[in-house]
Amino acid sequence: MDKQIIKIIKGDITEQKVDVIVNAANNSLLGGGGVDGAIHKAAGPKLLEECRALNGCPTGEAKITHGYDLPAKWVIHTVGPVWHGGNNDEDKMLAKCYRNCLKLAAEKGIKTIAFPSISTGAYHFPIQRAAEIAINEVIDFLEEKPVFEKIVFVCFNDEAYSNFSRTLDERIK
Ligand code: ADP
Repeated sequence: MDKQIIKIIKGDITEQKVDVIVNAANNSLLGGGGVDGAIHKAAGPKLLEECRALNGCPTGEAKITHGYDLPAKWVIHTVGPVWHGGNNDEDKMLAKCYRNCLKLAAEKGIKTIAFPSISTGAYHFPIQRAAEIAINEVIDFLEEKPVFEKIVFVCFNDEAYSNFSRTLDERIK
């Protein structure tokens, strides 16, 4: 696997020029705060219209829509687990989110993806633990199916950026 495929940046996911950006949505898929709110705002009202027709999304699953006014052609909406202390399948569910997003993107022939740090905002998943799960899932997927050209983790603050960067460095050295 070519490790250069995985990038960690600090920035705003709505500005990423990639084939697909991932949205950390909620079960309704009808919009929310955080990255979800930012994506809907940047994509425009047609995104919400398309999301309405999807009838929600179970935790750990992923659904795809168009990107409308975003630079990205597609949005994959996934629903991360709410952190309840770590003994309620949170790790498993977060891993499943990343896996299902990658699977769906691969099925669509998508080559470049940007992920936010799923569940680590309003859903309070601990950032270091979330970064390890995210990086592990992406590396495991790429080792099995090297179909992507670029996978970017878009970190919104310094804490996320340093955790993702350190975790990636440790995994690939
Ligand atoms: P969740 O409910 O899954 O925790 P949030 O949107 O509250 O989702 O937070 C997920 C992560 O997305 C957090 O790390 C937050 O800082 C980050 N985030 C918020 N806005 C953006 C944005 N525009 N681009 C990238 N990441 C963002």
